[in-house]
This record gives sequence, C-alpha cells and structure tokens, in this order.
Amino acid sequence: MSAETPAGPPPPPPPLVPVEEHLRRCLDLVRPLRPLDLALRDALGCVLAEDVVSPRPLPGFDNSAMDGYAVRLADVAGAGEDTPVELPVVGDVAAGPSEPVRLTGGTTVRIMTGAPVPPGAEAVVPVEHTDRGVSRVRVHRAPAAGQHVRRAGEDVEAGVVVLEAGTRLQARHVGVLAALGRARVRVRPRPRVVVVSTGTEVVEPGTPLAPGQLHDANGPLLAAAAEELGALAYRVGVVGDDPRELAAVLDDQLVRADVLVTSGGVSEGAYDTVKEVLSASPDVRFDRVAVQPGMPQGAGRLGEQRTPVFTLPGNPVSSFVSFEVFVRPALRRMLGEDGPDPQRPVVTAVADAGWSSPPAKRQYVRAAHHRDGDGVLRVRPVSGHGSHLVTALARTTCLAVVPVGVARVEPGDEVECVLLGPAPLAEQR
Ligand code: AMP
Ligand code: MG
Repeated sequence: MSAETPAGPPPPPPPLVPVEEHLRRCLDLVRPLRPLDLALRDALGCVLAEDVVSPRPLPGFDNSAMDGYAVRLADVAGAGEDTPVELPVVGDVAAGPSEPVRLTGGTTVRIMTGAPVPPGAEAVVPVEHTDRGVSRVRVHRAPAAGQHVRRAGEDVEAGVVVLEAGTRLQARHVGVLAALGRARVRVRPRPRVVVVSTGTEVVEPGTPLAPGQLHDANGPLLAAAAEELGALAYRVGVVGDDPRELAAVLDDQLVRADVLVTSGGVSEGAYDTVKEVLSASPDVRFDRVAVQPGMPQGAGRLGEQRTPVFTLPGNPVSSFVSFEVFVRPALRRMLGEDGPDPQRPVVTAVADAGWSSPPAKRQYVRAAHHRDGDGVLRVRPVSGHGSHLVTALARTTCLAVVPVGVARVEPGDEVECVLLGPAPLAEQR
C-alpha cells in the first residue's frame, strides 16, 4: 500500500474463536503425565495407572465374626434355652498369630472376633448365646452351619481386578489398596501448576495498599482451584507490568512447571505485558474467544520442554471462568482423567429471573440454584455482568450457561447449569 493512502477506519477485530475450538487447542497442548509408583499416602487424589488385582484372597483365612465359642454342629445340635448343652473349653484363640488348635468332638474353643477358626469347627456360637463360661460353657442356642464364620475369599478371591486404571483415588480407595497389602501404587502424578499474577497495581494479600493498588485475588484463586482438582500449585509473587521482569520470571519457573497459568495483561491495552512478551513466542497464540466473561485468551508452549502455558485475563471472575472452562479440562487430562467431570455435574434449571446475554458469545453467569417446594430446580444470577464483581463468587453455586445466539434469558426459561459444589444444605432434599 502506498504512503499516500489515507488512514482508513481501524481494521475490524479478528473473528471470535468458538469456545469449543479454543478448548480443543488447550487440550491439544497437554498429555496425561507419565505414571509413577507413589507411596499410598501420597496417592490420594491421583488417577490410577494400573488395574489393581487382589494378590491373595480376602479374608485371608476363615475367621470369627463374633466373640464366642467355636463348635461342631453335632455337639450343640440340641441346645436350647431350656436345654443347654455343656462343653469343656479346651483352648482360647485371640486375633493374631497363634498355635493352631484343632477342635475335637465334644469340646469347644473360646474364640475372639477376627481370630482364625480352628480346623474342625463348623460354626461360632456368640457369647450372648452362652453362659460365658471359661473352663466349661453352657450353650443355649444351636447355631446354623457356618454361622459367624467369615470365609477366606468371601470378600474377593486372588486374581480379581478390584480397582480399575482410571479411578481417581479417594479415601475409600486408599483403604481398599491398604487392605490388599499395597504400600505403593502406580498413578499419574499431580501436575505441577505454576501460577503467575501480573499487574503493577496488584499486591499480595496481607500487604497494605497504596492508592491505586488492589490485592491479588487471582493468584490464590487459581492456585486453590488447581489444588482442589488434585494438582500441585506453586505461586510466584505478583509480577509488575515490566516485560523484562515477566520474561525472566516465566523463564525461571519453567524448570518446575508442568504447566504455567498467568493472569492479567492479555487485552489490547498498553501495559498488557503477558501478551507483549509471549507474542514473541512462535508457539503461543492469543485469541478473542466467544465467551463472556473471559474473551481475551492465550495458550501455547514455552521453553525447551515445550511447557504448556495458559494466559488468562485479569478480572477475577474472568480468571475463574477461564480456569473452569479451559484450564480445568486440560489439568484433568494431565491427571489422566477422561470423560465427564464428576465434580462438575450439569443440570437443567428453570430461570427465576431474566437477564441479557451477548448473542455472539457463550455466557457463563454466576448464579445460585435451589430446589423449590415442588422439587423443581431453579436458578438465578447472583451478580451483575461486571467481571470485576468478585464478591458474588462467594454466593455462586453454579455457572448458568447461555449459548451463542441467545440475547435474553426470560424467567421460566430452562438453563443449563454447571454445579460448582453441592447446593446449600437447607436447599437439599
Ligand atoms: P488486565 O487483564 O491485566 O487488563 O486486568 C484487568 C482488570 O483485572 C484490571 O482492573 C486489574 O486491576 C484486575 N486484575 C488483574 N490482575 C488481578 C489480580 N491478580 N487480582 C485482582 N484483580 C486483578
Ligand atoms: Mg494488567
């Protein structure tokens, strides 16, 4: 174009990238982390990378379910309240290793819960059905065959898959692994997420504010969100809007990061330092995504390890929603979790109030849901649109999702809601 061409209107902004497309790019940047053998106590929250097979039967041996007396059925067959049968007590078996006693006809052995049932015994008579005798005992009730005996292998036989690869380990799974004798387990490690807040005006909570400053909400929020999901989060002190400082911090952090998440500095303004610094990286791209809040997004790879980086906008609600929509699925992929997010159920609720939505974008509205007296799930916004309105996050129980093409939600409309946690207790049925 020649120098004489008069300056025309500014070029139109690039088209908005659909949410699905940006999400696909974010997911393409990450892979499930390579499995590791971890000590059981470090594996909570990790995703299993092996099928866990029972190495032996559980229970491992026939044992008593009650404190009582091990008997042969024939010896006590006629026992009743008015016709007690008296037997000599020839031994005692407590739980734990003990000399094997064999039960011979016409005798009994006192036995405790969890103790091995002596060979020859066919049932355990609970102490409640006896006179609790020590050298001789009177039995008042005849047991059924096998009564109060826990059979070896009745829980699981050897060689059975008890936990499948892909299971996210909760406390109950840890208990099962321990019962199977496992001290270590093969899991995908937690991704190490380094969280960097940017902005010269942003200071660490706990620090007094000078005029024009505000406390860093995003760093703690994003680190907590990553930890809540099972990742390991590291925070870096807030980085000012100085390109050199930011470049140095990002470079330093690459050594310990499986993924970097920044907030702030990705809009179109001057001092939008994240964008300024990372635009120089060939593998990082910045887009305007068709989402409200959270339109300016960046994603890509940095450094020799080609570490994934997600750059989120600075307003706290934009950061939060961006994490939910783009970063959370990527971290779940790194953790080794596929498919629907069990921590984020999606429900349909009836709008209690109306609100507007930008038709070109998918809108995520901070909202609260409850079940009304008729059992109908209802939802209403808890905040205005402004993505700086952070305190409404305290009352947010779900994100109401308004699809592209919709300009208004009317009271009574059905809305999809992503639940962020259980409804308040008083509202549960
Ligand atoms: P930016 O994306 O850097 O243009 O920031 C957008 C808005 O979010 C500005 O009003 C910032 O002051 C604010 N902001 C940026 N980072 C944070 C943060 N870590 N905590 C709270 N507010 C922030
Ligand atoms: Mg900024």
